[in-house]
Amino acid sequence: MALSILDGVQQGIVIGDGGYLLELERRGYVDSGSEREKVGTGRGSGQFTPEVAIENPDALRGLHHEFLRAGAQVLQALTFFATREKLSRAGFGAHTESINAAAVRLAREVAGTRAMVAGSVARTQLFEREGPSAAGHVRDLLSEQIQLLKAAEVHFLILETFFHLEEMLIGLKCAATTGLPVIATMSFRPTTERCSDGYTPAECAKRMANAGAALVGANCEQEPARMLPMLRAMRVAVGDRVGIAAQPAAFRTTDQTPCFTKLGQFPDDLETIQVSRKDFREFGRQARREGIGYVGGCCGCNAVYIRALAHGVAD
Ligand SMILES: [Zn+2]
Repeated sequence: MALSILDGVQQGIVIGDGGYLLELERRGYVDSGSEREKVGTGRGSGQFTPEVAIENPDALRGLHHEFLRAGAQVLQALTFFATREKLSRAGFGAHTESINAAAVRLAREVAGTRAMVAGSVARTQLFEREGPSAAGHVRDLLSEQIQLLKAAEVHFLILETFFHLEEMLIGLKCAATTGLPVIATMSFRPTTERCSDGYTPAECAKRMANAGAALVGANCEQEPARMLPMLRAMRVAVGDRVGIAAQPAAFRTTDQTPCFTKLGQFPDDLETIQVSRKDFREFGRQARREGIGYVGGCCGCNAVYIRALAHGVAD
């Protein structure tokens, strides 16, 4: 295992793991919310929260093992959507501390000395629900979760799936107080040209790098082939100042709707737009050729995809 994520990237490409929430939803341990509301609006309430960490820890432990065996050098604690307000909307607000602590503990247990453990921090959804006036509340929520992850002794943080750059920059400010290295990746929808508050991938990359991220990039929403041009634009914007990170989704999007969470197939018909594992093998090859520092998978990526990615990196 590399001593730190920064050493790892220095030595070559680091292989992350895949998407936990969608895989555990398919296995029956996570609630998508689709029986109660229209999912995919960006404003969702109960769906896709990580209470599996305390309710069915064996299911989460098992998935960590699968990713590790597939070649992941990093295990992400399943702390995605584990800010207090999001958990409260799902009925688990009182368990904020225990969910974050348990998720990190499980990842550390499985990782041992074989992998690094990252704390995952996602958008709060409050910028989508309430607009920029939510900034103060967002700061408190992200700060609380990031302190919980630091206390649980993650090796570094992954700030991911932010739609608004403004919210990402708040997260990066909170993260800076921990002294932990940070990977920062935006998610672009409804278009790949600009994030929800109007910044291009290149502008996002620059601003995230200036705010202290060690690696910047994109995650979720697009399949590898559609994400690659965005990563190249980010690379040009930041040069060699910081590394590039990518965790694409494993779903086929369209020119008209280049983000899978806005497609009609999300969340109950995703099997029909799954991309092949070969796309991830090819992405691994390209990522290594282009000097991308960190590659993993997001939604739709189970161990099959991470194994293919690892093979591609090694080809
Ligand atoms: Zn995703």
